[in-house]
Amino acid sequence: LLRLEDVWKSFDGHDVLRGIDLEVAAGEVVALIGASGSGKSTLLRTVNLLEPIDDGRIWLDGADISDPRVDPDAVRARIGVVFQQYNLFPHLTVLANITLALRHVHRTSKRDAAAAALALLERVGLADKADVHPDRLSGGQQQRVAIARAVATSPALLLLDEITSALDPELVAEVLDLVRSLADDGRTIVMATHEMAFARDVADRVVFLDDGRILEQGPPAEVLVAPREPRTREFLARFT
Ligand code: ATP
Ligand code: MG
Repeated sequence: LLRLEDVWKSFDGHDVLRGIDLEVAAGEVVALIGASGSGKSTLLRTVNLLEPIDDGRIWLDGADISDPRVDPDAVRARIGVVFQQYNLFPHLTVLANITLALRHVHRTSKRDAAAAALALLERVGLADKADVHPDRLSGGQQQRVAIARAVATSPALLLLDEITSALDPELVAEVLDLVRSLADDGRTIVMATHEMAFARDVADRVVFLDDGRILEQGPPAEVLVAPREPRTREFLARFT
């Protein structure tokens, strides 16, 4: 579904992504791990065309989306994204946050969009919050709404960037449970995360980024439990 081929990206002469090769199959859940500054967010942002790449190619569903002629909005319409924080539009109700893209990008009727949004809110356990504004929700509830919004348009790919790291510890589980249920649905997910236990549980594959390169990747039972590379071991030691 997604393929990155020798992707390079630098900021101010500093190479942040150094020849990334990565393939993600439909239905796969991939966890990106690595130290702060290793390039996880940059990698996710290049896929969503928020960062132009310097070299290499990115393919989504067989189409080269790194071609400068592609319409970024058309690509983004097929990708759902959730960041660490500030995901929701504060001036819109929860329901309006979820229906926005459906209405304006996918041209769904108002009625159908509202029905779809309510069904999603039901699913994330927030049906009673449809008419409130995001500032009335806990951080965990806001992230659940952000996830509902990201999946409302049935995107081919879901990119999640440290979506629990701004949350109080007691709110993390409710968000991770939701991601787990999306994974169980067979959604294709690439997520940057520091939640190693969660990655071990849910990911089909763990990718360890070290200074802009993929140093090691494989099933969680290998990479997280018996890593081959000393650098991976060193990184994981911080979590125990
Ligand atoms: P974290 O775990 O802290 O989120 P990360 O793995 O997501 O880290 P990135 O945010 O991808 O790391 O950053 C990789 C490197 O690129 C860092 O050195 C960062 O300072 C640099 N960088 C990222 N975005 C920019 C930017 N817009 N301009 C300049 N440098 C940037
Ligand atoms: Mg990051």
